Amino acid sequence: MDSRNDIIVYAEYNEKKEIDRLTLECLGAGRRLADDWGCGLGAVIIGENMSGPVNELINYSVDHVYVADSPGLKEFHPELYCGVMARLCRKIEPRAVLFGNTLPGLDLAPRVSFSLDTGLVTDCVAMWIEEGRVVLSKPVYSGNVIAEYNIESKPAVITVRAKTQEKAQRCDAYNGKIIPIAEMIDEKDVTVRVMERVLELEEGPQLDDADIIVAGGRGIGSKEGFGLLAELAKTLGAALGASRPPCDLGWINAKAQVGQTGEIVGPSVYIAVGISGSTQHIVGMYTSRTIIAINKDAQAPIFDIADYGIVGNYEEIIPSFSNALVAECV
Ligand code: FAD
Repeated sequence: MDSRNDIIVYAEYNEKKEIDRLTLECLGAGRRLADDWGCGLGAVIIGENMSGPVNELINYSVDHVYVADSPGLKEFHPELYCGVMARLCRKIEPRAVLFGNTLPGLDLAPRVSFSLDTGLVTDCVAMWIEEGRVVLSKPVYSGNVIAEYNIESKPAVITVRAKTQEKAQRCDAYNGKIIPIAEMIDEKDVTVRVMERVLELEEGPQLDDADIIVAGGRGIGSKEGFGLLAELAKTLGAALGASRPPCDLGWINAKAQVGQTGEIVGPSVYIAVGISGSTQHIVGMYTSRTIIAINKDAQAPIFDIADYGIVGNYEEIIPSFSNALVAECV
């Protein structure tokens, strides 16, 4: 393999075996770093029947696609997958390994970094090369400070926050190489067996991928109030989010929580309704392109970061907002 010093990206895909949007963003970031560093870009994909996603990956200016394809890899298994990643890294000695800041990414990246005895920075929002080394930045202290990191050891293991990087460009003419790496699978890595896997059906746009999010806070006051927000979300084709109190109070599923201990989102439009704007909430949504706040308290801190603000009772504002939207669309 002539790929020593590549940057490699761990590729994720969905149930339909479509490449994950965040993987394309990692490939975009990887390509920019690789061009600055003057090295190649690789992608690693692990699973069963991978020909579809492999042929898709190769179209994103990837020099090497490493494929571990085996029936034993059908379901994500952190120990098996980590074994494959770590063996590959020992063999090809990449400069950096990029993972999405997703549940599987956050499961694998620390294991890989520990196996290789190398440095890890999670949740990076920017990365660039300075004096031949990669510099990584991420928000810390609830987003009040942006910290910068260097990783001295090799490879630098990095997880990348969604929607912070330009996606890789499709380029059908690119001449990348597909490299099978089934020999890197070792059943002896497995100490924990998965007995059952339950897939929760998800309807409508999801927080991590939505272009528009309608989020409610304690000011919504009840489960029924969230029904009103759900109608607006449906009209807009948006995902429904929340601050922490409505999740704790059972007005909405805990998966809807946005913030420090919930999802980190960055949609084109974030509509915050009855949310005061605590730092723990803002850290999860401040990268949204346009923020619209609806709050009855004109002094609420959310207005400090909002692009548009409406002061008033959401129960009066949301129906007229929805009606205006419907009128606009018919
Ligand atoms: P409040 O601060 O109570 O604000 C409610 C707002 O609704 C007020 O501004 C009020 O004016 C407005 N309002 C009331 N009625 C109406 C109405 N009828 N119409 C319009 N506006 C109205 N929080 C998160 O969100 N996400 C996290 O991930 C998170 N993680 C945390 C982690 C830690 C370690 C800790 C300590 C806290 C965390 N929190 C998190 C909680 C956070 O500190 C705040 O308590 C929370 O974000 C406040 O939620 P809120 O804005 O909905 O409620």
